[in-house]
Amino acid sequence: MNHHYCPLCYAEIPIGSIICPTCGQDVESWERHIPYYDRLIWALKNPHSEVRMGAILSLQNHRRAGAAGPLAECAMNWPIDVVQGMAVVEAIAKLPDGAEKTAALRQLQQHEAHAIRVAAGELLAKKGADHYGHST
Ligand SMILES: [Zn+2]
Repeated sequence: MNHHYCPLCYAEIPIGSIICPTCGQDVESWERHIPYYDRLIWALKNPHSEVRMGAILSLQNHRRAGAAGPLAECAMNWPIDVVQGMAVVEAIAKLPDGAEKTAALRQLQQHEAHAIRVAAGELLAKKGADHYGHST
């Protein structure tokens, strides 16, 4: 990747920048002190789709239940990006089952794109059939 973006204001910045020329934040320190997982969650709000996609793919490998909500939100925030939305559904499918995952899939059932609503609904149905998690 030849581009580097400020993780805080999303301006394009020269590779190796320590201070973002646009917002004046200490990018280097931020990247050093914020855990990688938290930076991935933050990257889901990045206006550049390739940054978001990278975060979605990395988060699915982390398999943390808490990522489900932010992932669903990412898909909802860019309703016309169906490719990204489908990637979000696939990523959520790989997360551990639980309340976060169920809530995220329910949220995605409200998505503007039909394909995403269907994919989320299928996952919810499958989850029920497999008796994963606890029903309260
Ligand atoms: Zn900045």
